[in-house]
Amino acid sequence: MAMIPINLQTGEVQKQQDNVIVGIDLGTTNSLVAVLTDKGPMVVEGDQKDALVPSMIHFEKEGKIRVGWSAKEKVLTDPTRTIFSVKRLMGKSYKDIAGFKDLYSYKVIEEDTDELVKIQIDDKFYSPTELSSMILKELKKRVERHLGQTISKAVITVPAYFNDNQRQATRDAGKLAGLDVLRIINEPTAASLAYGLNKDTSKAQKIAVFDLGGGTFDISILNIENGIFEVLSTNGDTFLGGDDFDRTIMNYWAEIHKLGETPYFQSDIGKQDLRLAAENAKRALTTNESYSVMLANFKLEINQDSFQRISEALVNRTINACQRAINDAQLNPDQIDHVVLVGGSTRMPIIKTAVSKLFGKPANDMLDPDEVVAIGAAIQASVLAGQNKDLLLLDITPLSLGIETVGGLMDVIIPRNTTIPTKAGRQYTTSIDGQKNLKISVYQGERDLVEDNRKLGEFVLKGIPPMPAGLPKIEIQFLINADGILQVKAKELRSNVETQIQINSQYGISEEEMGKMLIESMKNAEQDMAKRVLLEAVNEAKNVLLSSRKFVKQHAELFSVQEVETMNQLADKLELTITSQDKDLINKEVQELNQYAAPLAHKAMDATIQHALKGKKI
Ligand code: ADP
Ligand code: MG
Repeated sequence: MAMIPINLQTGEVQKQQDNVIVGIDLGTTNSLVAVLTDKGPMVVEGDQKDALVPSMIHFEKEGKIRVGWSAKEKVLTDPTRTIFSVKRLMGKSYKDIAGFKDLYSYKVIEEDTDELVKIQIDDKFYSPTELSSMILKELKKRVERHLGQTISKAVITVPAYFNDNQRQATRDAGKLAGLDVLRIINEPTAASLAYGLNKDTSKAQKIAVFDLGGGTFDISILNIENGIFEVLSTNGDTFLGGDDFDRTIMNYWAEIHKLGETPYFQSDIGKQDLRLAAENAKRALTTNESYSVMLANFKLEINQDSFQRISEALVNRTINACQRAINDAQLNPDQIDHVVLVGGSTRMPIIKTAVSKLFGKPANDMLDPDEVVAIGAAIQASVLAGQNKDLLLLDITPLSLGIETVGGLMDVIIPRNTTIPTKAGRQYTTSIDGQKNLKISVYQGERDLVEDNRKLGEFVLKGIPPMPAGLPKIEIQFLINADGILQVKAKELRSNVETQIQINSQYGISEEEMGKMLIESMKNAEQDMAKRVLLEAVNEAKNVLLSSRKFVKQHAELFSVQEVETMNQLADKLELTITSQDKDLINKEVQELNQYAAPLAHKAMDATIQHALKGKKI
């Protein structure tokens, strides 16, 4: 088992892999792309000589889509059509984001379910994966223009704490952007690679990667031994970043000059100007002793000392998180060999000082903190491209492995290019009341529908005690041993009923065939995604229909005749629409039904609706 070099343009399996592989930092605030050049790994700049692409997307009414700086300009003037921070939504369900819905100025659909989050713009619905793919497409375009050739392979970075779903969503975004994602690597790992910290193989190294970006803070403690990275612990705050420092300065000025009493500062333009002035001040204070600016007849000033005083609480929050991460890794600060600074906000001297003090050693800050993650990804990419043969010798799964879920969708459990031996699992539930048996079909391949993939086998989990749909907790575990033998186990966790099969996943398939399967998956990525979102919308609509009809029947006496009638009308309408093949219309009507049902559900305290909507159905 090894990596299969294929040329996605010609569709040929290559003996010599000479295609460029790019490294991508897909950030919450900014994204970058880097490639290996004669002078080493370098980030690719755009026309404006800037390496950063703001991770923002603007949808014009007429349908034109802008990504990057031109989208960022619209965030205040056209907030409902400007997407930012989409990374926070990747692989998340509505329940996962219940705590921070208010953060968004655009419309994130509100539902209290385990369904994956969708974003609404006019009558269209987008998944975070689709939105992220637009940012990736922009980066792809940028490199292609720079290199004068098409590219199709990438390494993409994600935070160390990203779970399986979030990683898979990132892979899917890559595929949708026309990129074969050879590896997803952790951002702190990439930063350590950029600093070459993996090169000292004489002894194990403990590394702390301190990453303070625009809106998030991550601290990761890594162990590097013989070139292998292990995450010992992660900590941080998903709502702490450079933006909070900007806000502190805004509040400071607002208080001194009583800006709240000036109408200008209540307007969108005034607020925007104040925010920009605060960010400029913060940036200026990285090199200057003080900063001042005239704004609406106010002289706004700040110096190092005051900035340090007002931002002390924020700095302390980062330091406390570091301490927790060090404790979790069962280390003392002085056992950390290297500290690496990542993210634009680590340019602030107050951060550098606090971090160096905690660890008792100066932090690595030679590389541009905006660029280190992308640079590291490009280094990993160059390793995969064959500059360093060692890593290629590791055995990997050449194709993704997964199971069939409702509607014939492929749910990947072990993504391709995972090094083996490996183990992964996920929980599922039933879709029919009282379901006793559950068929588990195992597939190999990269397509969204199982019918386009290769079936490896199937088995039945028998004897599940009768329970309402959605209640059983069925854990599916995939284990691949060093010989590539796949063992699939299914266990119902409430009753402990279990069964398993063994499959030789490599048997009966040639490298050429695998190469063909990959090419097909890239060629069909857009159609596949369209089919997937339609199927997902239909599945969701069916669930909502089922539960809302049940709900009305059970609680009819609580509602007025009018309410029952409206519920039934909305349900009937949705039932018809399900067959329409129009996912946006289906989503819209699901939302209408949900919105109408929400206050009724509050009325009926023991809402059965909760019951019926748990987990993915097989
Ligand atoms: P992310 O990883 O979330 O995409 P970045 O690493 O690009 O974010 O960091 C963006 C943040 O860095 C912004 O809040 C920006 O204001 C801040 N930043 C950039 N340059 C400086 C500077 N010189 N001084 C202070 N903060 C800076
Ligand atoms: Mg970042």
